[in-house]
Amino acid sequence: MSGKQAKKKRKQNRPYSRLEQHARSGTTLTPPWLTLPNLQKTSWINDRLPELLWAVLLATQMERKAALEIFRSVARVGVDYRGIGKIPITLSGIASMPQAARDAIIGAITADPTSRAALKCLTAFKDLPAREAWLARLGVPNSPIDWMPLMSGVARTLHHQSQESTDCQWVSLYFRIASGQFKLPTDELNRQIADYPDFGDQRMVRPSIRANEVTLDNNYRIETGWSGRFWEQCLRETPCQFSLGPSTPASSEAGTTVENVDKLVDCLAKHAGSSLRTTGVDPKHDTIFGTAFYCLGILRELIGFCANGAILARMGLRTVLECYVTLAYLMKKNDEALWRSFRVYGAGQGKLAFLKIDESEELSEHPVYVSVDTLNALANEDQWQEFLPIDVGDWEKSDLRKRSEFAGVKADYDRYYSWTSAYAHGNWGAVRTTVFTTCLNPVHRLHRIPLLHVRQLGAAIPDMIHLVDKILALVDSAYPTFETKLSMGVSEPISN
Ligand SMILES: [Zn+2]
Repeated sequence: MSGKQAKKKRKQNRPYSRLEQHARSGTTLTPPWLTLPNLQKTSWINDRLPELLWAVLLATQMERKAALEIFRSVARVGVDYRGIGKIPITLSGIASMPQAARDAIIGAITADPTSRAALKCLTAFKDLPAREAWLARLGVPNSPIDWMPLMSGVARTLHHQSQESTDCQWVSLYFRIASGQFKLPTDELNRQIADYPDFGDQRMVRPSIRANEVTLDNNYRIETGWSGRFWEQCLRETPCQFSLGPSTPASSEAGTTVENVDKLVDCLAKHAGSSLRTTGVDPKHDTIFGTAFYCLGILRELIGFCANGAILARMGLRTVLECYVTLAYLMKKNDEALWRSFRVYGAGQGKLAFLKIDESEELSEHPVYVSVDTLNALANEDQWQEFLPIDVGDWEKSDLRKRSEFAGVKADYDRYYSWTSAYAHGNWGAVRTTVFTTCLNPVHRLHRIPLLHVRQLGAAIPDMIHLVDKILALVDSAYPTFETKLSMGVSEPISN
């Protein structure tokens, strides 16, 4: 199969909804699952795994055949207690059963020495539902808990579709059926459960078990708060295990060097000079060349700081994208009034910042990153600031996405805008992927712990080069001829 065919097949079998499959309401895109009426979301890790911990321990600490035999014997106890009501075989469910049923179930679970040894760690949990009944079978703990079997068991069942997890959900379902709480419609389906995993196509049987079990759990669950307290004790009594993030991208992955950028800036400055026709205000010339120099400046700083994999590189990429879209839009419009209004808007922002800072009462609260003199000079450069309006909205009555569509650069907008904006806005997605790592202690259920050093991310500078080259192509289009590109390497300055 060719790479193209494999990609097509992967897309056809994608296990997620495409954007077009989401329902749009205002600014919210809702995936198909969330549009189902009365949908109840359930968590295997948070709630159901701790409730089936006895099964988890047997499924992961015993030889599979032996564990399934115990599960079968436990489910068969249900036959003797038809009529106990909709009670699951979870730890909380077992604790809420009439004493005779509870003792019979716990007796079947702990019937042989191997299962009792595998379950020994249950007794370390002071909040274990019906703890006294379990202690009566397993004995009072007389030494510190051995966390290793528990960690190993939880690690192998954290994913609800693992074989061990499915075995646990099977015994839960089988007990519901045996005790008359749930009926399957055909003999074949009943046999698939009774003879699991030896009858039927397991590719169909396993998902069916999980789907039926979770539905029953949603509808007939018994809550004692055990799951939450289980995870709390695990957190209190076991340490975090750190994982290392991906390694730092090598500087060679940047795709260019500071020296190359400097050479290109030199070429571009010569070209700007040769294409200059007036010392008066020329918004188009200033904006096109200025934007290109601005983006090259960002690129140079990031390469110089070896920031290819840094957070700041994403913010830089976001800015370069916006510069590219803006420039492409202005050039396609090619309206002298628009070039002028873009410039007036920027100067107005300088004036606004100047007035806000100047009017703040506390001198000590003035920022240090910019001087009021700089802002004042900007506000008055083209004209006296008393003639300069301030636009407190966007510089044009549209947004960046619409401008990218008009300019024909929507593909780059889609590729770069959303995720780089996450870094600029400091939203949770960016925070999660940079300053946290996942704890490797299984009984900490994949929680997040802060990294001592911010994670180095993938190389962002090659994407910036891609956009800067497109900006340079716009320069060439507006003021030919400038065919130099960063991606081609810049061997020597071009004389104009
Ligand atoms: Zn942890």
